[in-house]
Amino acid sequence: MPGYSRGEEPIAAKLKLYVFDCGALKFDDVTSFGLTNDETPVRELFVPCYLIEHARGSLFWDAGLPLDAVGKGEVALEPGVRMNYTRSVIDQLADVGYKPADVDYVAFSHMHFDHTGAANIFKSSKLLIQRTEHTAAFEHGADNPVFQPALYSDLAASDTTLLDGDHDVFGDGRVVIVSAPGHTPGHQVLFLDLADTGPLVLSGDLYHFRESRALRRTPVFNTDAAQTLASMDKVEAFIKSKGATLWIEHDKALAETLKRAPAFYD
Ligand SMILES: [Zn+2]
Repeated sequence: MPGYSRGEEPIAAKLKLYVFDCGALKFDDVTSFGLTNDETPVRELFVPCYLIEHARGSLFWDAGLPLDAVGKGEVALEPGVRMNYTRSVIDQLADVGYKPADVDYVAFSHMHFDHTGAANIFKSSKLLIQRTEHTAAFEHGADNPVFQPALYSDLAASDTTLLDGDHDVFGDGRVVIVSAPGHTPGHQVLFLDLADTGPLVLSGDLYHFRESRALRRTPVFNTDAAQTLASMDKVEAFIKSKGATLWIEHDKALAETLKRAPAFYD
């Protein structure tokens, strides 16, 4: 019978995915992503946050743009790059009945500022992070211009599980962190085995644009281009083996078609 495994322990029947709007990034020029400006018309990236609810606990995945950008309209980051963040993820979490302290686990695809903007509000959650990313973020964060250590500094004291590869978060194979290094030393993607929606992979920044995937391009600011291409091969094979859909997290055209919290995918 659906939801149960051969009369043994009930399979975690509940698995829900909530998608939050945690801002937008706008670029005059996309060549730093390894694409020419002619290869894609896209100049705006969606910045998501996600909450996963499993019968055995909750996981927050990727924490969006910095909270101090909320409500300020378009904010210049550097020449040709702007960000905009309308409504705090804290308020959006409240819409689905959560306070940050209610979240059991927090994980980030990687520790760049557009994925850790609200990281510090999850300091009481268990942090799931690749060992290599932990070293990069907490020992060498100041050396990397895309890391903003102040955004996640409170997590240095978090209850932390250092990962050395793939990790099955709840032990039943339905929420799995998949190691995919190269964008940063410990970049990772997230597999969700949703009952109705079907198997799904959240890309992190393995790809930023659809063209990045089609043309196998790597951003110039990746820590290791060859490792990124190997991770693309790994994740593409994984997607195929699972029959999964890939959501490129920053894909604005995709995001516009998605249900936003408090609606959810299950
Ligand atoms: Zn990003």
